[in-house]
Amino acid sequence: MSATLTPSSVRPSAFVPSVVDPTTNGTNGRLSQPSPIPDFGADVFSDAVMRQLLPKQVYRSLRETIRRGKALDPAIADVVASAMKRWAGDHGATHYCHWFQPLTGLTAEKHDALSLPDGDGGELSTFSGGDLIAGEPDASSFPSGGLRATFEARGYTAWDPTSPAFLDRSGDSVTLCIPTCFVSWTGEALDKKTPLMRSVDALSTQAMRILRLFGTDAGVTRVMTTLGAEQEYFLVDDAHYHARPDLTMCNRTLFGRPAAKDQQLADHYFGPIPERVRSFMAEVEATLYRLGVPVKTRHNEVAPGQYEIAPVFEAVNVACDHQMLIMQTLARVAPRHGLRALLHEKPFKGVNGSGKHNNWSMCTDTGVNLLDPRDDTHTNTEFLVFLCAVIAGVDKRAALLRASVASSGNDHRLGAHEAPPAIMSIFLGAMLSDLVAQLENGQTNRTLAGGELDLGMDILPKLPRHAGDRNRTSPFAFTGNKFEFRAAGSSVNCAWPNTIINTIIAESLDEIATRLEKEVGSDRNPQRLRAAVERVLQETIKAHKRVIFDGDNYSEQWHQEAERRGLPNLRNSAAAFGVLEQPEIVSLFEKYGVLSPAELAARAAIFNEKYAVEVGIEAEMMLHMARTMIAPAAAAHLGELASVVASTKAAGLAGGRAEKQMREYDALYTAFCDSTDSVAALVGKSPEAAPQKVSEWIAGMLRPAMAAMRAAGDELEARTPTTLWPVASYRELLFVK
Ligand code: ADP
Ligand code: MG
Repeated sequence: MSATLTPSSVRPSAFVPSVVDPTTNGTNGRLSQPSPIPDFGADVFSDAVMRQLLPKQVYRSLRETIRRGKALDPAIADVVASAMKRWAGDHGATHYCHWFQPLTGLTAEKHDALSLPDGDGGELSTFSGGDLIAGEPDASSFPSGGLRATFEARGYTAWDPTSPAFLDRSGDSVTLCIPTCFVSWTGEALDKKTPLMRSVDALSTQAMRILRLFGTDAGVTRVMTTLGAEQEYFLVDDAHYHARPDLTMCNRTLFGRPAAKDQQLADHYFGPIPERVRSFMAEVEATLYRLGVPVKTRHNEVAPGQYEIAPVFEAVNVACDHQMLIMQTLARVAPRHGLRALLHEKPFKGVNGSGKHNNWSMCTDTGVNLLDPRDDTHTNTEFLVFLCAVIAGVDKRAALLRASVASSGNDHRLGAHEAPPAIMSIFLGAMLSDLVAQLENGQTNRTLAGGELDLGMDILPKLPRHAGDRNRTSPFAFTGNKFEFRAAGSSVNCAWPNTIINTIIAESLDEIATRLEKEVGSDRNPQRLRAAVERVLQETIKAHKRVIFDGDNYSEQWHQEAERRGLPNLRNSAAAFGVLEQPEIVSLFEKYGVLSPAELAARAAIFNEKYAVEVGIEAEMMLHMARTMIAPAAAAHLGELASVVASTKAAGLAGGRAEKQMREYDALYTAFCDSTDSVAALVGKSPEAAPQKVSEWIAGMLRPAMAAMRAAGDELEARTPTTLWPVASYRELLFVK
């Protein structure tokens, strides 16, 4: 066997011992270079670069825009553009692009040259201030959800100066990428970034009212939200990936019988990272460091072949942009190590899926984390107000929060294998639960302390113990000084869930601020404030405590208990998308200036359409695999069994065993063919109805038929010789590292 196998040379059956050559340490010789040395932020047009390259006045003006959210002075655009161009050129860039995030959920870029030959032996600059701040790509092929007709192609991109421009390196080619918002000719948002930025403004406006009440607004211009998104992903061998049409086309296995051993022994989680994977991670990190993305944590996740990468938190807008770069980098670097990164929520049945734990908090622009309980939390009334606003917001808008993570991929993950259920609830932990109980009784006078853990040996340090445990079953868990929203799927652009979180918390802050302002009046008397806070928070807790649940969210009892409490349980995406069309949700987004009714309707239409298209592709792919791979293999085996029976009989043997085997296999084969027919009868037959109705039909009819077909296929796999089975098994996919 040659040392470096290419996909075409690999027959993906159990008889290919491994696509990894053991003589090169399992790395196919790719480990020859040492881990790259990080070059932090070298490819970012950062604050430091701007300070160095821009005239003082221009720099100051731009900084005001970035720090304080002030409107950009158009007069400075030319100066900034010229500095940016020079800097990019010095780093090898030949082109620039407005980098934006259309409603596909991906990123988009159209490159233009920074300079052209002027026809006279010289150079003509084609990048001015105007080109920096605005672009006009042909937008006709991006989803608009009916915001405009296909012939109305004009779309505009607008520079977001709060997210730094960066250089994208691909081979020898370097491109200057300018993060932008993307809007239609009519000014409606066609992207994920615009509503996210609007939602931060909405939350800021309301949070500032609370700070003003408490007199803690000195020097604060705005409140932003922060995000640290932990990204889970799988790695599979490149050759196996290409030999499985379902992975190549759908990013998940549509068939596949769980291997005898997968995650039962918990021997992969936090285990030593395989060498090839480590070198992959090192290159990913080095690439991201150049782009200024502060990725900090790496480890093996629960399922075999599953890993995690997590950055340090940043302002949500920048963090979301960086998160897109993290996903792109994972996907781009993996093939260089003979691997493929799977970002799908559920690539493999029967083992953990992948999420994107969305760690979220609120922070002033002076750096105060508003969800930090600090010591003696019971005296930290301002914190309690922000905490109660989160509790109220999540309870009141639980269905919308659920809708924020709806997707065809996440449907396979939520509620299965260590993923939170579709019921939204909040985990607070012992210390805060105790405080909330005190709030409900009207007054707070103690904070539970954590104390120390004594390990019983003098040589070991005493460990400070937190006053509350963790709860990894909860979809929305307080984790010390932030909330961790665990329901978000691994493949999504986190801009959308954060847009929703910001909006619902803006609403509840607004409600609380309005009541407090009314009760306290204009003189801001501290006694009156304290009494008002006690009253308002008491009522808030009474009204919304049903959303607090510290127990096991995976248990069946919780499902029953949640139903008793009246918490929504939108089991699939089709049901969740419907929430976006409810009149009160439409008004919510409109009231806080996050999305107009038309913009929201467009999103609902696009989500439904994406869901239908994705499931449709999966159904087609299943039929293709069934008819061209699995059924022929099974038929061949059935033929073999039949000839064994015939020859056994001809030899004068009783042949009972062989005949039994043949009949059993025939039954499985028939069941599989029948289930294939059932799916085939449904494909392309969705009702001519509104997108929401089509999604419901898919969830109720097509998906169950596909699940039955898969089950039948997986039964066949268990009884078909590995030499005949046409695709790589779970054992190979998950254990070739
Ligand atoms: P884990 O939850 O895995 O134990 P950590 O609690 O240390 O890990 O952090 C997980 C993520 O939460 C990291 O990305 C971290 O930067 C982020 N995080 C920490 N503090 C905040 C905050 N105030 N706002 C948003 N994210 C935060
Ligand atoms: Mg975490």
